[in-house]
Amino acid sequence: MIYREIPKFIIKRNMQKSEQTGIYFDHLVTAPVMKQICSEITKSYDYEVEFVENDYSDEFLDAKYNQGRLGILQYHNTAIYICFSDEKCEGRNSGIQSVPTAFNRYYSNAHTEKELYFYFLPCSGNNATPYYLFMYRLMKTTGFNFINTPPSLAGQITAFSSIDDIIRARKENGDKNSGNNATYIVKNAPHEYEIYGKTYGANKYDTSLICYAISQLAQPEDHIVLYEYNEQDLKELPEASLEVLRSMGNIEIVNIDDEIERQELEKNNSLRSPRFNAHLLDRLGERHCVLCNCGISEIIQGAHIWPVADIKRIHTLSSDEKLTYATDGENGLWMCQNHHKMFDSNILLLSASGKITYKTDLSKEDEEYITSVTTVSKLPARLITPDYIYYIGKRYGSAQIM
Ligand SMILES: [Zn+2]
Repeated sequence: MIYREIPKFIIKRNMQKSEQTGIYFDHLVTAPVMKQICSEITKSYDYEVEFVENDYSDEFLDAKYNQGRLGILQYHNTAIYICFSDEKCEGRNSGIQSVPTAFNRYYSNAHTEKELYFYFLPCSGNNATPYYLFMYRLMKTTGFNFINTPPSLAGQITAFSSIDDIIRARKENGDKNSGNNATYIVKNAPHEYEIYGKTYGANKYDTSLICYAISQLAQPEDHIVLYEYNEQDLKELPEASLEVLRSMGNIEIVNIDDEIERQELEKNNSLRSPRFNAHLLDRLGERHCVLCNCGISEIIQGAHIWPVADIKRIHTLSSDEKLTYATDGENGLWMCQNHHKMFDSNILLLSASGKITYKTDLSKEDEEYITSVTTVSKLPARLITPDYIYYIGKRYGSAQIM
C-alpha cells in the first residue's frame, strides 16, 4: 500500500542504452516537465522527486533499467504511470516503441488505484503523422490519457468506438501508404475477426497495440483470432505482451506454423489457410476484389490461381512442395465471393497478360450481367509477375490465352 500527501515521482535514471548514449532520464524529465505533469494530474504544484538506480525496486518498479520509459507518480494511494515518448521519431514507430512495455507493466500490476498517461517529450522527426495519430488513438482506446497533446493533433486523439471503427481507420491510413501495413485486421463475418500480426522488429509494437485496443472493444459475442505471422526467427510476440493478451482473455492466439497449414490443406483445400491469407495481405494489401474493387471485408476471399485441389492431385510433389504452392501469395488474388465463384467455375477467365475474358457460350443476359459487375478489364501490371504467369500456366495448361 502507498499513501503520499505530497505527489512524488520515482523514476529510474537508466534507459536500456544510457551507458552508450550518455542520455539519462533525469536529463529528459526536467523540473518544468514534472511541474506540468503534476499540476495537470494532481492539481498540485508541489512535488517530490527521486531518480533511482537499477538496483532499486518497489511495488511498481523492478531492479532493472527503466522499462517502458516510465515515471511513476505516487499521489495519495494512486500510482500514476507516465510513459515518455522517445527522443527519436524518425522510424516507422520509434517514438512510441516503449508504449506496449509501459502498458504491460501498468496492466500487470496488482495495485488497483492506478492511472495511465503519455507525455510527449521534445523529439526529432515528425510524431504527428496520420500513422502516429492512428497509434495514439489505439493508445487512447487502451486507456492512455494524454497530458500535452501537440497543437497539430489537438482534438484528434479520440478513442475508437468499435473494432469496425479501427478497421476503417486502418484502411484509410493503409491506403495512403500501400503495402506498409505490418498488421492487418480482417472481418470475415459478423463478430468474426482475424488479426494478422507480424511479430518481429518494429512490427511487434503495432501488433501489440492493435490487439490491446481490439481486446478493449471486443463484445462478448465476438470471436477474435490473432495469427502471429513471421518469416524470421522471432516467432511470437514478447512474452510480457502475450501474458497481457492471455489475461485479457478474449483474443485467441495462434502461431502460423506448418502443422496448422497441413491440417488446413488436408481439411478444406487451404481456403482458410492463415499463411495464404497472410501472404496475400503482404503482397496485395487490404482486401479488395481484383475484378470489381469491392472492399466489403466479409465477402472477400483469397482465390487460388492454381487450384489447391489440382495441386493436391500431383503425386510427384512432396507434401512440403504442395504446402508451398498452396500458400504462395503469388498464387492468389483477392476476389469477392461472386467473382471467386465465377473464376472457379471458369465462367470468367484470366489470361497470362492479366486480361479478363468470359466463357464464349454465355447467354446474352448472363454476359451483360457479368460485364456490369466486372469493372476491371485487365489486372494491374504490378500483379503480372513471372510467378503469376507460371500459376496461370498451371491452371489452364496448354489452353491458356495470352
Ligand atoms: Zn468482385
